[in-house]
Amino acid sequence: MLPATVQLDLPEWAHGVVDPARTWPGDEAKVRLAIDLSRRNIEAQSGGPFGAAVFDADDRLVAIGVNRVLPQHCSVAHAETMALMLAQQHLGRARLNRDLDGLPVGRYVLATSAQPCCQCYGATVWAGIDRLLIGARSADVEALTEFDEGPLPADWPGELERRGIEVVRDIAREAACEVLAAYGSSGARHY
Ligand SMILES: [Zn+2]
Repeated sequence: MLPATVQLDLPEWAHGVVDPARTWPGDEAKVRLAIDLSRRNIEAQSGGPFGAAVFDADDRLVAIGVNRVLPQHCSVAHAETMALMLAQQHLGRARLNRDLDGLPVGRYVLATSAQPCCQCYGATVWAGIDRLLIGARSADVEALTEFDEGPLPADWPGELERRGIEVVRDIAREAACEVLAAYGSSGARHY
């Protein structure tokens, strides 16, 4: 019998780690939450040094994500894809900002501790978000860790902007880099 289902979970510590009733106004607060999740993930040894979160137009959290690749034997279980998939499941929409008829149903923001890799870049194009907030750059990830971020279009921010996704980079970049550096210098490869 071939496998017919797939299940992905956030680590235990992620349950209740943030108050869903609070708001996260401003770009920096959103990215700092993603960075905090990335730090917690390596401290708990529950995945790689990456965190992400999806917010609605009222600055409320819709879903969070952390890297779960090695614990869950799943190469697509990056922080951004985890957050996007959980948000889509929660809202019951494949495109967060459109209903089945393609009509707008709100604006959504994805905040991530580091620039999306080639996989998450593609996922971002189809996920139905309106803004992408980024902490560390891919160059930081590749300089501070052994991760390969993969090939991207030369003008990757422009390609997103042309699809209606505003890109804001270098938000709390130093704090994001501190987590990457901590992971990179730890020699950890088992999570
Ligand atoms: Zn990724």
